[in-house]
Amino acid sequence: MKKTNLQICPICGKPETDLYLGGYLGKLYVCRKCGYIGALVMEIEVENRKTSQ
Ligand SMILES: [Zn+2]
Repeated sequence: MKKTNLQICPICGKPETDLYLGGYLGKLYVCRKCGYIGALVMEIEVENRKTSQ
């Protein structure tokens, strides 16, 4: 089964992160849930299932 990486906010634990800024200086992510902005996100590997929710 195909697996995909999910990026989790380290503050609220939700997979609601977007890429905020990307460039040669590094990447910043923003969380749509809690407003966290930072370079650190947690990545987990999940099975790629098609669920509509
Ligand atoms: Zn968050």
